[in-house]
Formats: sequence, C-alpha cells, structure tokens
Amino acid sequence: MKIGIVGLGLIGGSLAIDFKKQGHQIWGVSRKESTCKTALEKGIVDYVSTELSSLNSAEVIFICTPIAKIAPTLESLVPHLDPQAIVTDVGSVKQPIVEACQPLWANFIGGHPMAGTTESGINAAVSNLFQGAAYVFTPQSNSPQITEKLAILQQLASSLGAKPFICSPEVHDRSVAWISHLPVMVSASLVAACLGEDDPDVLALAQELASSGFRDTSRVGAGNPELGTMMAEYNSESLLRSLYAYRDNLDQIISLIETQNWQALSKLLADNYQARPYYLN
Ligand code: NAP
Repeated sequence: MKIGIVGLGLIGGSLAIDFKKQGHQIWGVSRKESTCKTALEKGIVDYVSTELSSLNSAEVIFICTPIAKIAPTLESLVPHLDPQAIVTDVGSVKQPIVEACQPLWANFIGGHPMAGTTESGINAAVSNLFQGAAYVFTPQSNSPQITEKLAILQQLASSLGAKPFICSPEVHDRSVAWISHLPVMVSASLVAACLGEDDPDVLALAQELASSGFRDTSRVGAGNPELGTMMAEYNSESLLRSLYAYRDNLDQIISLIETQNWQALSKLLADNYQARPYYLN
C-alpha cells in the first residue's frame, strides 16, 4: 500500500518505521528540509518532500502534525488528493479536528493512537511504539463507503500491534480528558509545586532523593510543552470538568488529613488500590 505521512515527528516517524517494515511504500512530508533529510538518511521513509503535492497518488494519508496544524494541512492537501484516498489524523483531541476536517474530505476518519514518549521530533521516532496500545477511530457516518475505509484503517492499526476502538469524537475527548489530559496537568502541577520549595537546601536534597515514584508521577507533566498546551486549548471543556473533579478529590484528601481521619483515608486508598488495575490493560 502507498502510505503518505505528513509531519515526521515522534508519532509520524514511528508510524513510518513500522509501516515500512511491513513492506508498505512510505511517502513522507514534513515542514523542514532538515527533518526530511534525516528521515531519508535513517531509512524511515522511502520518499520525502516538503510539498503536499507529492502525495497525489497515496492511498492512505496520516496527518501527524501538531493539533493546530491538522485541519489547515488537510485543507492544503485536498487539491492534490486521489478521489479514493483515505485521510486520517493522529491528534490527541478529536471533536474540533473532526468538525473541521470531515467537511473538507468525505473519506476523512479521525484517529488517535494512544502511545507516546516525553520526546518529540524525528529523532524520537522508534519502532514498535504502538504495540499493545489502544488506537481510537471516530468515524462520523456508517455509510458503506466509510465502513470500507474504516476497515482498512483498523487493519493498519492492528498490523502495528495496536487494539482498534471506535467511538464518537465527543466520547473520545471526555475519556482522554480523564486518563491522558488530566494526568498531564496534575503531573505538571506536582513538578511546579516541588519547584516552589523556598528552602534551597531542602530543594537540593529533594532533587537528590527523587527516585522511581517521582519519575513515574512527573513523567507526563514534563513532556512536550506544545502538545500539553494544545491538549488544554482544544479539549478545554472536558479537561476543566476533570480538573474540577480532581480538585474536589484533593480537597477531600486534605480535609481527611487535617481532621486526622486515618480510617477514611485508608479506605479511600484501599478503594483506589482495587480500582487501578481496571485502567491498566
Ligand atoms: P512532534 O514530535 O513535535 O512531531 C510533529 C512534527 O510535525 C514535527 O516534527 C514537525 O516536523 C511536523 N510539522 C509541524 N508543522 C508542520 C506542518 N505545518 N506541515 C508538515 N509538518 C509539520 O509531535 P508528536 O508528539 O509526534 O505529535 C504529533 C501529533 O500526534 C499531534 O497532533 C499529537 O496530538 C499527536 N499525538 C501525540 C502523542 C504523544 O504522546 N506525543 C500521542 C498520540 C498522539 P518538522 O521537523 O518538519 O518541523
């Protein structure tokens, strides 16, 4: 299959590596000449260009640019597309992207592979990034045409070792607000709160003592700042709903500690211990 990938960064580059390994022909497009050169030199793509017109015979195109650039990229891509081409994106937010992209191209189906690292750019691209991860698609119709295109995308996602899911863009955005966007903000506020320690000796020792617990809880809040900001900007309603609920829970824990209600705190922690495995498939 001839696959086009626009935006050769962590996600686009990682998709390219895995699809190329399977024998697909990969046509990459990125903004910077230097990124295109690196992608070709590293063997991540078969052909590369800074011009979207190079994708005029691609069968499936993945738009892997930052969220704000996805709809403008599709708009510029449309005049060059083969009429049967399937276009999907990988943006971490779906509702505003699907609303903007679906009217531009009938064969557009929103997508979101639920995998990443704290790194960004072409040099962060790795193989097997999507192995075992969920891959969400948000089709806007169940017409025979879209059903057929969706099946192709689901098969491509499965070939990465990912598990395809289908839902509406709205349900996607509310769900990822809980398990992806809220953790980014909570983790970011954790790091910011630690940095607010005003005794330099305590701060220096805390930095020396930080171990696996801090590494786990700070990781998602100290990743790509552009991505974190766009998650908040494009999913603000769902993210705020989750943040308010989180603040209420934090207040409840503060109150239990202030009132020395160790029994209730212990029950809350025990309930969480029971519930957490349901989120870790
Ligand atoms: P990234 O590593 O920064 O990659 C984005 C790439 O897009 C950049 O390397 C840049 O390449 C290119 N680009 C920027 N503007 C462009 C344009 N106008 N035209 C063509 N290429 C352009 O970011 P990423 O983490 O891969 O994120 C990309 C998308 O994946 C985002 O929409 C994000 O929401 C989604 N996503 C991210 C994660 C994650 O954990 N990181 C997970 C799932 C989904 P140049 O070097 O050429 O400028």
